[in-house]
Amino acid sequence: MIHAHAVVIATGGLSIPKIGATDFGYRAARQFRLRLIEPRPALVPLTFDGGAWEPYAQLAGLSLPVRMETGTKKDKASFLEDLLFTHRGLSGPAVLQISSYWQVGTPIRLNLAPDIDLLQALTRAKASSRKLLANELAGMVPSRLAEAWVTQGTALGHNWQRAASDVTDKSLAMLAQRLGQWELTPTGTEGYKKAEVTAGGVDTRDLSSQTLESKQPGLYFIGEVVDVTGWLGGYNFQWAWASGYACAHGLAARLQRA
Ligand SMILES: Cc1cc2nc3c(=O)[nH]c(=O)nc-3n(C[C@H](O)[C@H](O)[C@H](O)COP(=O)(O)OP(=O)(O)OC[C@H]3O[C@@H](n4cnc5c(N)ncnc54)[C@H](O)[C@@H]3O)c2cc1C
Repeated sequence: MIHAHAVVIATGGLSIPKIGATDFGYRAARQFRLRLIEPRPALVPLTFDGGAWEPYAQLAGLSLPVRMETGTKKDKASFLEDLLFTHRGLSGPAVLQISSYWQVGTPIRLNLAPDIDLLQALTRAKASSRKLLANELAGMVPSRLAEAWVTQGTALGHNWQRAASDVTDKSLAMLAQRLGQWELTPTGTEGYKKAEVTAGGVDTRDLSSQTLESKQPGLYFIGEVVDVTGWLGGYNFQWAWASGYACAHGLAARLQRA
């Protein structure tokens, strides 16, 4: 039996189990009846059902800047970052960021050409060019993406594999919408084996914001085991270090009192 004045739990989240992640911290919190926000993988690639993803799997390796959103008006999250197509779904900074906000069963929305007014650019191309639509589009988005998108037209009842000048205004508007407001619903995520962090954890309402001591006197929680999740960019390290620092000050004050 070991007696201690205080115990600090700093066991991190559940991400990357093969380098030692465990649920010890969550179990300890439950044991002392502290509230827990259900942990889930975050900063993680999103995946799609194999069949539904088939038309896009050929784009694996393609990277481009996008605007990505999820949620509704009142809880919308939106990021302007790079997107990466993979064999199973979407990755890259835009997706990792949005994954922390995405709720299972809800859609994500992408603008694959966030820097241009696509409809205006396509309408201009129609008026002034005899080139294939795919070639015109390749001046606005990466050529692999342009090729994949015009090929999809057939399934949607549109013929986009022709000269830009031969495509109707309505059909061009549909193409612009498919690129500028592409909506799709992920099936899931790559899970803890790829997640950079774990969202959720020990509920901050049960911790002191000054010292990270829990409602169970002498028991502290710091770092990722706590329900604090940051964006990409070092914020999770920052939280781990800052919470450790605050906790250390709390422990020092406690020792002085003892
Ligand atoms: C691939 C990857 C990339 C990342 N990149 C970034 C980044 O660029 N910027 C950023 O801010 N954050 C990044 N993170 C997140 C960041 O690493 C964590 O948020 C941070 O390390 C959390 O610190 P922590 O001390 O709370 O937990 P951890 O650093 O996870 O440390 C917890 C330790 O406790 C140990 N442990 C767990 N259970 C037990 C047990 N039962 N007994 C004994 N030991 C146990 C674990 O093995 C681990 O060593 C990344 C994470 C991953 C996985």
